[in-house]
Amino acid sequence: MSTDSRGLLIVFSGPSGSGKGTVLSELLAMRDDTVISVSVTTRAPRPGDVEGVHYFFRTHEQVEEMIKNDELLEYASYNGNYYGTPRAAVEQQLNDGKNVILEIEVQGAEKVMAKVPDHVSVFLAVPSMEELERRLRTRGTETEESVCNRMHAAEEELKHIDSYQHVVLNDDVKTAAARINALIEAEKHNHKNGGN
Ligand code: 5GP
Repeated sequence: MSTDSRGLLIVFSGPSGSGKGTVLSELLAMRDDTVISVSVTTRAPRPGDVEGVHYFFRTHEQVEEMIKNDELLEYASYNGNYYGTPRAAVEQQLNDGKNVILEIEVQGAEKVMAKVPDHVSVFLAVPSMEELERRLRTRGTETEESVCNRMHAAEEELKHIDSYQHVVLNDDVKTAAARINALIEAEKHNHKNGGN
């Protein structure tokens, strides 16, 4: 397969509660050439989380073994748990011509930006911190402690917004997905013409 048909690596971040999952589902419905990388995590599954679809749920020891064996493209510790991107699956899908979205937090995202020069990065922003807190509480899956930790993490994440090439506001899910879709189209074109 020629390098031209290699997919785009898309780094996608945003505070927990910013609606990343919903926006990405909407985006995937628009494109059959794009997939989301499935991460490993040590956090407990939430209701509705499916092994191998949303995450690979692993123990601390198992993730540490993967880190030791250099099986992760990046990893980070977030809210007391490990989260990491299995390298082999990402490589395989890019070689198959798929655009691969890494839905990851900022520490991991910055590692990928430094490691993989040819990437596209998008930060999903929320209209306000009040709205973020409201969304986290409405989700109903987080404990009070987890909501507080995630609000604190969001403040930290916002400090890194300038590391991203694109900032997309999630004021409306369909509009946000359409904006990201347009970005992918533009970047694919740029990519083919040898740009970055
Ligand atoms: P959640 O527990 O809400 O599913 O995810 C918490 C945070 O971890 C989110 O910001 C999510 O983007 C991030 N995350 C999920 N998978 C990965 C990963 O493989 N690597 C990194 N660095 N962050 C991840």
